[in-house]
Amino acid sequence: MIIGGLQKMSLTDYPGQISAIIFTKGCNLRCPYCYNVSLNAIESGEKSDISEAEILEFLEKRKGKLDAVVITGGEPTLHSSLEGFMAKVKDKGFLVKLDTNGTNPKAIKRIWEKGLIDYVAIDLKGPPEKYSQVTGTSVDMDEYKQTLDHVIKSRIPHEFRSTMVPSLLNKDDIHSMGEMIQGADRWYLQKFVSNLGMIDDALKDTLPFTDKEMEEMVEVGKEYVKECEYR
Ligand code: SF4
Repeated sequence: MIIGGLQKMSLTDYPGQISAIIFTKGCNLRCPYCYNVSLNAIESGEKSDISEAEILEFLEKRKGKLDAVVITGGEPTLHSSLEGFMAKVKDKGFLVKLDTNGTNPKAIKRIWEKGLIDYVAIDLKGPPEKYSQVTGTSVDMDEYKQTLDHVIKSRIPHEFRSTMVPSLLNKDDIHSMGEMIQGADRWYLQKFVSNLGMIDDALKDTLPFTDKEMEEMVEVGKEYVKECEYR
């Protein structure tokens, strides 16, 4: 894996658990609102900012103080060594959460079948007809839907999360997005936060949806999943 950083503690990234967060570098999407620009693109020959060995050593010392490890990106499933690394983290007794954009169903299925994840958070970027616009690239929707079906049907503890950018998504989109994840456990609608370092800086003047608008969208989302909230 090419690792871009380690956050030593988080109380919010793994539900109900104290976690450390590992950021992998490289992503196959180019979401215009992405503010992980430094993690998004990797040059050939790029190296990790912190090695796997250093992270494993850190985790060894945190046994009993941390419950879980969150692996996020970028897109972690791009890295062939992900599974081996997850196995080492599991061997140390930590829960493992994977954050993914969902475009690699084979990797997610394999990781689950090998017992390497305890929780998965999957991006739901928008309705199918807007997916290429919202991700800045073309996404194989059949593959992506395989991820959704697999995660929901195999009952991997999961959440879906959607960043609600007003110039890209609207309240009507919640219906078609909800249909894509019908029956899922949790769906978080995330308020867009303008940030100077986004892939498309033209979004920097975009105002987020108001709390009232977010609440209205949550009410629609609840028609499709067991729990829907905004944050
Ligand atoms: S999936 Fe989109 S938001 Fe997430 S790291 Fe990749 S480009 Fe950024």
